[in-house]
Amino acid sequence: MIKKTFKNMPKPHRWVMSAVAGCMLILFLLPSEPVSAYKNSASILEVGKRYALEVNFNNLPVENISGLEEINEAKSVVVKKGDNLAMIFKRSGLSPQQTYRVSKAGKLAKKLLKIMPGDVLELQIDPQSQLISLQYPFSSTDTLVVTKSEDNTFTSKIETIEVDARLNYTQGDVTSSFWNAGLKANLTDNQIMQVAGIFGWDIDFALGLRAGDSFYVMFEEHYINGEFIENGDIVAAQFVNHGEAFTAIRYDDGNFYTPEGNSMRKSFLRAPVNFRYISSSFKKNRIHPVTKRLKAHRGVDYAADRGTPVMAAGDGKVIKAAYDKYNGHHVFIQHGEKYVTKYLHFTKRTVKRGQTVKQGQVIGTVGSSGRVTGPHLHYEFLVNGVHRNPRTVNLPKAEPIANKEKVKFTDIAAIRLQQLNNNKRVMLAMN
Ligand SMILES: [Zn+2]
Repeated sequence: MIKKTFKNMPKPHRWVMSAVAGCMLILFLLPSEPVSAYKNSASILEVGKRYALEVNFNNLPVENISGLEEINEAKSVVVKKGDNLAMIFKRSGLSPQQTYRVSKAGKLAKKLLKIMPGDVLELQIDPQSQLISLQYPFSSTDTLVVTKSEDNTFTSKIETIEVDARLNYTQGDVTSSFWNAGLKANLTDNQIMQVAGIFGWDIDFALGLRAGDSFYVMFEEHYINGEFIENGDIVAAQFVNHGEAFTAIRYDDGNFYTPEGNSMRKSFLRAPVNFRYISSSFKKNRIHPVTKRLKAHRGVDYAADRGTPVMAAGDGKVIKAAYDKYNGHHVFIQHGEKYVTKYLHFTKRTVKRGQTVKQGQVIGTVGSSGRVTGPHLHYEFLVNGVHRNPRTVNLPKAEPIANKEKVKFTDIAAIRLQQLNNNKRVMLAMN
C-alpha cells in the first residue's frame, strides 16, 4: 500500500517519504541503540505524519538518512562588546521565539541580561536549529543552566561547584620597595595592594619603609577538584615597620582587626597617595628640592608623576580650594574639630570649598603649581592648629569589634596567630 501511494506522489514527496520510510526502517533495525537515536527518528516520523511537505529536505541531517545517530551541535559563543542574548542567538541560527522563551525561563535566567564581553555561553543546538540547552558560567564556581522541557518551554537552575579553600603563607624582607619585596615573596599585584590597604592606616608605604622591615602574609587559595583556581582572602598578616609589629586578623565581616579586636581602619590614611605612584619610595635623603631644608619642612613631600591622584586622608569638609603663587592649586580639609590636612601644588583640584569628602576620595592630582621645581604632593597634618609630622603623629583610636562578636573573634585571632607563628618557625628552620 505504501508503494502505491508513493508512486502517485510528486517527486519531492517521494523523497520525503523515502526519508521517512528510511527512518522507520532504522527504527526497527536499531534494537539497542542509544535513546537519542530513537528520539530523533521519532520526531522526524511525527513531522512526516503531520504533513510531509513541511519537512525541509535540506535540513534533514545526512547521518539520519544513512542510519547514523544525529549529532547535536555544541557551540561556545564568546560575548562581544554591545552583545545581547537576541544578537547572540541570531548569530547562532536560533529564532527570536527561542530568545523569548529562554528569557522567560524563570528568575535565574535574568542573569542573561547581565552578560559581559568576554563571557562564554555554551549552546547545545539540535539539527532543526532548536536550542536544547544553554550554559552560562558567570563565576569560577557558578553556572546558569537553561534546559528545554518537553513542552518547549525552558527551565533554569544554577549549578555550583564545591570550592576547597586551603591556607598558604609567604613572608619577605623589604630591601628596596614594598612592591618589589611583595613580588619576590610571590604575592600577586592584587595581594600586594591588599596588604598595603590593610596596614595603610598605620604605615606610610610610600616614604615610611626602611631596609629591615618585614612582612608575613597568610591567605586562602581556592581549589576545585584539586586544581588551583584563584587566590582567596588574606586571613592574617603582620608588618614589622621600624621594629614595630602590626598584626591584622580578618574577621567574618570582611574587616581586619588587631588581635585585641581593634579595627585596623583609622580616621586617617597615613599617606594620601597610593604608594605605587611614588617614585622616590625608598630614598634615604629627602631634602626639599627648593628650600634644601629637611627639618624645618612642615609637611611631607611625595614625589610622583604629574596627574597622580591624591586622596582625602580622612572624612571631612573642604575649607579651602584655591590657587596662589606659592602653594599653587591647593586644598585644605577640616576633619571634626581637631584636625586639618593640607595638600599643595596640584595640577588640578577636583573639589570645591564647602564640599564634604570621604576618606580615599580623589581631591586633586599631583602637579608642580606654585613655588616648586618638580611635580610632587606637599602634605601637612595639623592637630589643634599645630603642625605635626604626618608620618609619626598618633592617629585617633580605632573602632573596636562589636561586643557580641568579641568572643568569636578572640577565638579566630588566637588560631590565626598560632598559624602565623608556626609558619614563621617553619620558614626559619628552612633558612
Ligand atoms: Zn614640601
